[in-house]
Amino acid sequence: MSGIVYKRVALIGLGLIASSVALALRRAGFEGEVVGTARSAETRKVAGQLGYCTEIVETAQAATKGSDLVILCVPVGAMRAVAEDIVGCLEPGATLTDVGSVKAQVIADLAPIIPDGVHFVPGHPIAGTEHSGPASGFASLFDDRWLLLTPLEDSDPTAVQNLRSFWETLGANVDEIEPEHHDLALAVTSHAPHLIAYTMVGVADDLGRVTASEVINYSAAGFRDFTRIAASDPVMWRDVFLNNKAATLEILGRFTEELFSLQRAIRQGDGPLLEEYFTRTRAIRRGIIDAGQDTAAPNFGRAKTPD
Ligand code: NAP
Repeated sequence: MSGIVYKRVALIGLGLIASSVALALRRAGFEGEVVGTARSAETRKVAGQLGYCTEIVETAQAATKGSDLVILCVPVGAMRAVAEDIVGCLEPGATLTDVGSVKAQVIADLAPIIPDGVHFVPGHPIAGTEHSGPASGFASLFDDRWLLLTPLEDSDPTAVQNLRSFWETLGANVDEIEPEHHDLALAVTSHAPHLIAYTMVGVADDLGRVTASEVINYSAAGFRDFTRIAASDPVMWRDVFLNNKAATLEILGRFTEELFSLQRAIRQGDGPLLEEYFTRTRAIRRGIIDAGQDTAAPNFGRAKTPD
């Protein structure tokens, strides 16, 4: 099939991202094998019942043997142990990639143990939801979303090109980026916002004066969006912060400074400062919509009644 050179794709970990890859492969008419595995029997069972892999095997080693593309789809903090487990089973000429949300630490953990003759090309789909697990995937997850590759200096260009074509066939726009730059950019666009959402939901939870029913019934769009983000997988996000420490702390430091300046403006009744600030931020939202990365429909296009 055009676009994909691989004959057997191994998915190690069967959560949101892996199940979406499998479903997107099926949608694309991929005729090769898709072999999946996860550490728990329960996840393997659910994935088997849903049938998006051509084969489910019990171990990561069994999935790796004979595969020409191996995709690590586990939390960032688990990448190293999983890679150590499978390195002896990687086929010469195979490509090993990952979908981890942090890149520099994953590369530092994995690059030293990749055998010669295996192409290690790290990646990160900028696509996701707050749902996780083997039943959470859907075929269109990567459509028109960015997939960032962070090849190593000595990565084989053909291996990089083949992986690029793979993700493009799944619907993604592919770009290449330096790992450290990736981590800083994602700290701004994803990691710090998640931490802020977690904090805001935690504040509402701690605030005894606002009852649970008030929070739920009166939650305006802002807070509701925070609760959606704060419902994301705890293990995944624990690992993101532990492994993207420097960039996240840098952005949170800047965030705190800005927050203090807005706090002072409110205290001092500095309307012009607030208005100028909010005008600038509104333009950023417009830019995201113009770039086709979100909808301009009110309330993100959601129906008025909960679905
Ligand atoms: P998920 O739905 O929570 O699934 C995680 C999978 O990893 C499960 O199959 C789980 O196995 C397995 N796993 C968890 N801990 C493990 C460990 N210590 N050793 C071996 N396997 C382990 O996760 P996901 O959302 O697909 O995320 C997977 C990766 O994609 C993460 O690195 C994440 O940073 C990245 N990512 C996520 C998003 C997103 O929005 N969710 C977006 C882009 C990238 P069991 O089910 O058997 O426990």
